[in-house]
Amino acid sequence: MKVKITIDEKQYEVESNLTIIQAARENKIHIPHFCWHPKLSVSGNCRVCLVEVEKMPKLVIACATQVADGMIVRTNSDRVIKARNAVLEFILINHPLDCPICDEAGECKLQDYAYKYSVGESRFEFEKIRKPKRVELGPNVMLDTERCIMCSRCVRFCDEIAKKPQLTFTQRGDHVELTTFPGVQLDNPYSMNVIELCPVGALTSRDFRFKARVWDMSSTDTICIGCSRGCNMKMWVRNNEILRLTPRFNSHVNDYWMCDNGRLNTFKFVNAANRINSPMIRKEGMLVDVGWDEAIAKVAFELKSFKKNEIAALGSAYSTNEDNYLFAKLMQLLGVKRIDFVLHTKPGNKDDLLIREDKTPNAIGAREVGVRPESDEFGFTSIINEIKAGKIKALYVLDDDIAADPNVAEALVKLDYLVVHASNENETTKLADVVLASSTYAEKHGTFTSFQGRVQRNRPAIATLEHDRILDGMSLSRLDKFGAHNDRWTKGQKRDTRASWRIINSLAAVTGAKWKYNICEDVFNEIASTIPSFKGLTFLKVGANGAMLSKKKETITVKN
Ligand code: SF4
Ligand code: SF4
Repeated sequence: MKVKITIDEKQYEVESNLTIIQAARENKIHIPHFCWHPKLSVSGNCRVCLVEVEKMPKLVIACATQVADGMIVRTNSDRVIKARNAVLEFILINHPLDCPICDEAGECKLQDYAYKYSVGESRFEFEKIRKPKRVELGPNVMLDTERCIMCSRCVRFCDEIAKKPQLTFTQRGDHVELTTFPGVQLDNPYSMNVIELCPVGALTSRDFRFKARVWDMSSTDTICIGCSRGCNMKMWVRNNEILRLTPRFNSHVNDYWMCDNGRLNTFKFVNAANRINSPMIRKEGMLVDVGWDEAIAKVAFELKSFKKNEIAALGSAYSTNEDNYLFAKLMQLLGVKRIDFVLHTKPGNKDDLLIREDKTPNAIGAREVGVRPESDEFGFTSIINEIKAGKIKALYVLDDDIAADPNVAEALVKLDYLVVHASNENETTKLADVVLASSTYAEKHGTFTSFQGRVQRNRPAIATLEHDRILDGMSLSRLDKFGAHNDRWTKGQKRDTRASWRIINSLAAVTGAKWKYNICEDVFNEIASTIPSFKGLTFLKVGANGAMLSKKKETITVKN
């Protein structure tokens, strides 16, 4: 049922079951709040959302007051402004006011509200209460108890979302302290979400602490590759180095959350010392750096020396739809029938919130765009058996460390020729004849298809020499559109890596194909026009929140 309410002299029609803060938010009116969060229960303890409601004798908290027909609300009357000042003055009494050394500075609600809504001075002349600093709440989160404003968001998150009641308050009055239950740590797969939930700098990331000021980093909207959920996130970069990942709201995928594993373990390989910085060819037993033209020409030449049925190809569930699509297309061009990819699942490692057993971002997409065997006879297990039997002599592997499995490594040593696309040194590159230095998901445009069948975009947050080549000669206004004014494009070390689809495109050109892909979007548009489940999709439609394949797929079954 709808009701009519007036907020700040303007009338709105809203659902009758909403609270004032929800109704205001739906209509883009901001009522300040610390403890209220759209996905947590209402606790109503910070009092900063006080508003005036006509005919009510006292101010009411907008987070816990339901709308009613004819209600007249004022969010900025003199009474409200005075009360808000008082609340902020009260909250700041015992706050250490250490913004210059606080990780939260620049993205702190208390800092923002203090600037916006408080009178800017305190009448409190006494000694502040001292509380514990640098408390290791768990493996990933550090607490500064003095900064805590007791909003209880973190406590409610553990109770209601992570379903791991690990946090609580002790003491009373201004001696209240956040702590863990006796003998318990803040240690659950989602523990780091309390860092963004905390409206102040009381809870900080032990991994990111003191690494950078917020305003010194650029943030890029992209997605996590830690499992087939594809949580939406922001990638934070300074001087071409990724420093942290934080969740980005998408109600269809991950709401406001991401798991600690995704947040901590899906970016360090991009910064790692074992990155492959340029293509390499094995010469006299050693992999040596070469230029792109030499590497591409060598691969094209060598592949031609094998019969079609002596070559097999493995795409990758870690690679984008575009990479896999062109990979499958190139194999078709070369007449290679043995094509598949490896599924990486951890049986039992899943939950009802976000985490999926499939630890790759694009198993659905890889299959959908053509990296699939016509029959079991051409699938992964049979490819490995045929390599062992000496029938397959050359293998082309796209971005997957398949030799991490000792059984596969044992087979690969039997090959006459192994080409791999890889971003980091690994067990497979150790055996390769040619390593084509591929860009990671953090260095290229592309799309992944989640287990839900949702196609989502990843965007480059890290610049490579490939970007420099593309940007070279662009006008300043176009550079600006490309985001090239940002420091990630100008500072820090850049690697000579290329997106896998671009490497394959170059290889196809050498073999005589007349493909015309200049940017990743060109490949995606072709996928959308040739693969039925992608029909009608464009980069624009995929947008910030992704778009569903026309044929929804909940599960994937791949016979390996
Ligand atoms: S630590 Fe942060 S989120 Fe938790 S109660 Fe204190 S202010 Fe709120
Ligand atoms: S649930 Fe999966 S996609 Fe989401 S953050 Fe964790 S690893 Fe990444």
